[in-house]
Amino acid sequence: MTNTIIAKFGGTSVADADAMNRSADIVLSNPDVRVVVLSASAGVTNLLVALAEGCEQEKRHDLIDQIRRIQYAILGSLRESVVLREEIDRLLENITMLSEAAALATSAALTDELVSHGELISTLLFVELVRQRGVEAEWFDVRKVMRTNDRFGRAEPDTRALHEMAQLHLAPRLRETLIVTQGFIGSEDKGRTTTLGRGGSDYTAALLGEALGAARVDIWTDVPGIYTTDPRIVPAARRIDEIGFSEAAEMATFGAKILHPATLLPAVRSDIPVFVGSSKDPAAGGTLVCNKTNQPPLFRALALRRNQTLLTLHSLNMLHARGFLAEVFGILARHSISVDLITTSEVSVALTLDTTGSCTSGNSLLTTALLTELSSLCRVEVEENLALVALIGNDLSRACGVGKEVFGVMEPFNIRMICYGASSHNLCFLVPGENAEHVIQALHKNLFE
Ligand code: ADP
Ligand code: ASP
Ligand code: MG
Repeated sequence: MTNTIIAKFGGTSVADADAMNRSADIVLSNPDVRVVVLSASAGVTNLLVALAEGCEQEKRHDLIDQIRRIQYAILGSLRESVVLREEIDRLLENITMLSEAAALATSAALTDELVSHGELISTLLFVELVRQRGVEAEWFDVRKVMRTNDRFGRAEPDTRALHEMAQLHLAPRLRETLIVTQGFIGSEDKGRTTTLGRGGSDYTAALLGEALGAARVDIWTDVPGIYTTDPRIVPAARRIDEIGFSEAAEMATFGAKILHPATLLPAVRSDIPVFVGSSKDPAAGGTLVCNKTNQPPLFRALALRRNQTLLTLHSLNMLHARGFLAEVFGILARHSISVDLITTSEVSVALTLDTTGSCTSGNSLLTTALLTELSSLCRVEVEENLALVALIGNDLSRACGVGKEVFGVMEPFNIRMICYGASSHNLCFLVPGENAEHVIQALHKNLFE
């Protein structure tokens, strides 16, 4: 274990020159921060994803122009650097070329190559900004160490290779200079660029923290910590000053966008505390996620995951039969889909698909091929536009009165499905998408205010 701190800054923290300067203030105020992990400037990844979907020339020009404006505004705030301008122009040229290719034929590999440019550009700009403030810094291409499999759009890291390569290429540099590198992106065996799924920069920071034996990972975002629910939905939500790994991991898994769902895996494995704070207001403090917390409460937080799809599979063959579920799971496994919530009855099973760490391209998991295969086994009913509400807490499944507290408030709403008991940390249910925010607001008022 070293004193090294990995500091990650999200899109809004590198959105423009002011935001980048505030983020640089945070980095430069703490000599233990040796690695900076950055997202793309806010909005850029969405623009790149739109380009990767393939579009007409006029739309393409408009999207590239928007990216250029965002990045040139930051460039323009720096003292003129010919080298940097040429680098940025070269990357914008690449974006043009790759988006022309995407207009002819899209692919997951091409999408990843294209969207990686957001992080490549933001890190180049940030390095120059730090240097112009008189501090030695080095731009580091994270793809040199972040080895992943080739599941483009949702790649999984090879932690052993990452550890080896980070120790070889990165660790020795930390003593000499501040490293600025990209979140979200990696590379597979053949050297092609991959991505870890939307919001993946948090995960990158934690993975690098683990590979380098860091003392802490700091996630700087646009809110001063993890709240009892998304403060955009409930302005009265309260900050949680300290929270255990498992509770925070449940929150992330069930949709609290503040952390990418996989972020806490490396942190838990290596017992590295994770701090979450606001780069707009670092003095406001934040949340510390660690392995010990004082008296964890029964009700901790509410999380919301939108755009959930419910599959109900009916088959009379299920009646007193064996092996039906095994066949269903076999099909889902062949399509690389993991099941999220599940309930069963005598002749039917209802399940939602796990969209955790959703794919960079934003493509639905529910493909025609999957539906065709399932339909050959049973009658399939698909319901879309549902929302998953998760109440996160401690010892929930052993406490009395939880049902009354929660479902009493739910009287005006339809509850499409409930999952309770498998984990003592959560109670989950599906509601119609249009009710999601009202449900969260009503529950928060009753359980947390
Ligand atoms: P970044 O670009 O810095 O990664 P994100 O937009 O991914 O930032 O995550 C920050 C956002 O997460 C906040 O603006 C907030 O709306 C949302 N959020 C969702 N759930 C929570 C929560 N429980 N506590 C705090 N923020 C939350
Ligand atoms: N830029 C990527 C995204 O917008 C990754 C990240 O911000 O964490 O999803
Ligand atoms: Mg994020």
